[in-house]
Amino acid sequence: MKILWKLRFILKDFWRQYLLAFVCLQIVSALNLLPPWLIGKVVDGIKNNTLTHQTLAHYVAGILVVSVAVYGFRYLWRSWLYGAAIELIRKQRSRLFAHFTQLSPEFYQRHTAGDLMAHATNDLNAVEESVGVGIMTLIDSMIAGFTVLLAMIFLVSGQLTLLAMLPFPVLVWVTSRYGVALHSRFERAQAAFSSLNEETRESIAGVRAVKAHQLTERQLQRFEQLSYEAVEANTRVARVDALFGPSINLFFGLSFVLTLLGGAWLISRGQLTVGLLTSFTLYLGQMLGPMLQFGWQFSVFRRGSASWGRVETLLARKPQVVDARDAQHAPNDTGLSINIQSFAYGNAGQGSVLQNICADIPSGTFMGITGRTGSGKSTLLRLILREFDLPAASTIEMGGISIRQLTINSLRKKLAWVPQEPMLFSGTIADNIRFAVPEAPLETVIKAAKMAAIDAEISVFKEGYSTMLGENGINLSGGQKQRIALARALLSDAPVLLLDDSFSALDMKTEAHILKNLMTLRQQQNKTIILVTQRLPELISADHILVLDRGRIIEQGNHEQLLLQNQSGWYARIFRQQAKVLLQPLATESAGTSL
Ligand code: ATP
Ligand code: MG
Repeated sequence: MKILWKLRFILKDFWRQYLLAFVCLQIVSALNLLPPWLIGKVVDGIKNNTLTHQTLAHYVAGILVVSVAVYGFRYLWRSWLYGAAIELIRKQRSRLFAHFTQLSPEFYQRHTAGDLMAHATNDLNAVEESVGVGIMTLIDSMIAGFTVLLAMIFLVSGQLTLLAMLPFPVLVWVTSRYGVALHSRFERAQAAFSSLNEETRESIAGVRAVKAHQLTERQLQRFEQLSYEAVEANTRVARVDALFGPSINLFFGLSFVLTLLGGAWLISRGQLTVGLLTSFTLYLGQMLGPMLQFGWQFSVFRRGSASWGRVETLLARKPQVVDARDAQHAPNDTGLSINIQSFAYGNAGQGSVLQNICADIPSGTFMGITGRTGSGKSTLLRLILREFDLPAASTIEMGGISIRQLTINSLRKKLAWVPQEPMLFSGTIADNIRFAVPEAPLETVIKAAKMAAIDAEISVFKEGYSTMLGENGINLSGGQKQRIALARALLSDAPVLLLDDSFSALDMKTEAHILKNLMTLRQQQNKTIILVTQRLPELISADHILVLDRGRIIEQGNHEQLLLQNQSGWYARIFRQQAKVLLQPLATESAGTSL
């Protein structure tokens, strides 16, 4: 029941529905007392030969009217209460989702998507059960149980009630023991569900790799295993759950036996009529429902409470990167100045990923970043995006203001990032390109696609820009995905372009074509281009190039300087190697371009 206390602020918004449901419930409980009482009257009437057709008709009509009224009121309170519970959980689910969108990448490194999905579905469903069915049964069992108890004591006999109630304390103890067992088993079932969820998500997302590596069989076995574990865990829950009903029936059987014995004795002494004993047994029968619910509701509340605890933990997680209290809007001057003494990913246990990185990137600059794989290039871009915060001694400034002092929204509006692994969404190609600017007209989408050299290929598709993409663009080639992601960045009017190895899947002709377009764009709109690449010919016309190795700048300068400075250096060496293979065809094919 702790959960109701924890949820009091949320429940407060729905007090009207809960109050109405409560009133209806009381009416139902009071009405329910009538039929047993009337039946008792009929029995006594028959026994004493005083029953006339007319009174019987009245009794029957009374029972019918009460039944219809109970039907109506039950419908009303159920719809109010369930309606409130569904709405309440909808709000919490939206809140959780909104919270997820705020959290930093670091959070997603710790939680799998399947796990988060399980919290948003299974856990919140368990909470919904608590605040809907749970509250209902709690109130119902208390009100109904209590009114029936009063009726038994005052309409029939206090002594008989005491006798009939003898097994009840034991019953309450037994059901609460079941509740504890159920709780721990439910926790395990929930964990098994999370794993199964993640496995399903991962297998579907990675279906190509699974097939290519002939892993289908192994994947199936893993899935079988996990779903077997989930079934096993749920069966264990069901086994305890199944014990509730029979145990309660057993105790009730005992209660009925005691009632009959005690009732017969009281009748023989003339202290009770047969009709009243009939009413009493009917009332006792009415206690069965509330008692069953009472035991069962222990488990519902425990489940709900545990689930809400998990959801609360997630809601309590603070995004690591947040707006400073006096954060300002990003300035118009988007020149960047980077001064990183050192940066390490907090959780990796490895040393610094970046060290002593200093660079000035005035707006309109074409900056190249290259270096071995794993040298920290993507990390640098992610720091400019402020996906992670730098330690205090390091800064990245935009227009002379530390990006920590800028609102995250305004900073990211200035940056158009094409990540190393492009992310596409299920939807049309056009919607994927206009992702950041949903209201952009089709002409603008086509213009961006032309600049990203993908327009011709899209036009060949039967449905052109309306072609639906599968999950993460599963129906596109790697190069097509890259260019759609590029078109998306070009469509936004952000003055700084961050391109992370964005042409790696393209042929040289397309690559040169796009580079030419980018250079034109830079000239026309004074855009800053920061291009991370392993293909050095892309950087020939760059204003400045940083060469990273294990997180440090090992060489820098423009293309000519790098070639001349240190002929046996990394840049010169790799350029010569690549030039042999790449530059020959590039030179002939892209003659007349700015390269
Ligand atoms: P590539 O050319 O392969 O894309 P890169 O130069 O972009 O490499 P980064 O992705 O910046 O390299 O990675 C630099 C280092 O940081 C690597 O050693 C990597 O293992 C580590 N790293 C990257 N991302 C994370 C992360 N989220 N958590 C912990 N360590 C990370
Ligand atoms: Mg990278």
